[in-house]
Amino acid sequence: MDDTVTREDDTVTRDRRHVWHPFTDMAAWLDDEPLVVTAAEGCWLVDDRGRRYLDGNASLWVNIHGHRRRELDDAVRAQLDRVAHTTFLGLTNPPAAELAARLVALAPPGLERVFFSESGASAVEVALKMAYASHLLRGEGHRSLFVSMTGAYHGDTVGSVSVGAIDGFADVYRPLLFPTVHFAQPYCYRCPLGQREDRCDLACAETLDAVLQRDGDRVAAVVVEPLVQGAAGIITAPDGHLRRVADIARRHGVLLIADEVATGFGRTGTMFACEAEGVSPDLMAVGKGLTGGYLPMSATLTSTAIFDAFREAGRTFFHGHSYSGNPLTAAVALANLDLFDSDATLDRGRALADVLAAELARLVALPHVGDVRRRGLMCGVELVADRATRAPFPPEQRVGAQVCRHARDRGVVLRPLGDTVVVMPALAMAPDDLRLLIDVLCASITEVTGA
Ligand SMILES: *Cc1c(COP(=O)(O)O)cnc(C)c1O
Repeated sequence: MDDTVTREDDTVTRDRRHVWHPFTDMAAWLDDEPLVVTAAEGCWLVDDRGRRYLDGNASLWVNIHGHRRRELDDAVRAQLDRVAHTTFLGLTNPPAAELAARLVALAPPGLERVFFSESGASAVEVALKMAYASHLLRGEGHRSLFVSMTGAYHGDTVGSVSVGAIDGFADVYRPLLFPTVHFAQPYCYRCPLGQREDRCDLACAETLDAVLQRDGDRVAAVVVEPLVQGAAGIITAPDGHLRRVADIARRHGVLLIADEVATGFGRTGTMFACEAEGVSPDLMAVGKGLTGGYLPMSATLTSTAIFDAFREAGRTFFHGHSYSGNPLTAAVALANLDLFDSDATLDRGRALADVLAAELARLVALPHVGDVRRRGLMCGVELVADRATRAPFPPEQRVGAQVCRHARDRGVVLRPLGDTVVVMPALAMAPDDLRLLIDVLCASITEVTGA
């Protein structure tokens, strides 16, 4: 027997016996045939039997330039020839220092310090701790309350779950979480305030004003996913929403934390989503696309005022990780930013978003497609049992999951959020591949919903 075949069979056996997968119903996982990815090229994944699959969600929203880009591969190799890792506690290294400078140059004005971590959740956690401690150090320790949107997802650590607000993610851990106050999300298809989008005047954003009028002097910061709430189901905010939220926070003198972990690095059309509405947050978390989808790295960018609260008080920020500021991940992040320039990635991404917008028209025609939401290359297709009443399918039917499973059999990897199927191509996906993705999605929805 061929040696590689034996090895891949071992992968399935070992995985079934010993691996616990993230955000995965393991009972369903063990009942299904796992997809074993052994290689990739561009936006195509290759499995252990040589079958090819289009990477329809950019490897869960991280990939930008495709897999195995020579420039990114070379950046990792070149850094490996120098050093893979040294501590960032008390030492520095050229790629991480250069990356901090490059991020500050790209970020909204006022963000001038960069704190590195390895996951989006950690970058948010850092922002929460910095925000609270900066108040404490200025004698305002009573400002310990955080405000976020309903439906928010900010990561899976206990702190980031505390500011999250997705039913099901947080329920189990409620006794472990710190209390957070929520304001209404801009979910226009199912408006939490029962308003009509064309005449609401952003009433959902105004619920923040009510919260801050009541609790404002206890609030440390408002945390938002700018323009698009990702894990909530790709909830796209109407124009002006982010600006309104930022203005309300500013008016009440509370800090604004932008969680750009999903929206950053061109995913919504600009380098950072905040740019689109001229918003400068006090703290900003980035992750996912920071390394082009290559290696785990995230960062929290912060204003000089917050940094100075620590510096002037002679205080240490007691937070950091074994792999903070890792030079290998920083090197590939720098190569990622270089590719944005040399490939004109933002322009290409915007052109691809136009292709996506045109292709989505075919989906809208399907009887069980309730809502199609898109901002740039972040797209969610919400499936419903009844389009007229917007009634959802019974959750136990797992319609979204079934559609994605059918898509996989047709050679496209997708993942749902409930009954919202997420379409999130890499910015560099070929237009023809994106058309194929939508072909497969149409066919899979039709097959599963029988219409
Ligand atoms: C994915 C995500 C996170 C968490 O990032 P991880 O790297 O998975 O920890 C945080 N916030 C938003 C908005 C995200 O989409």
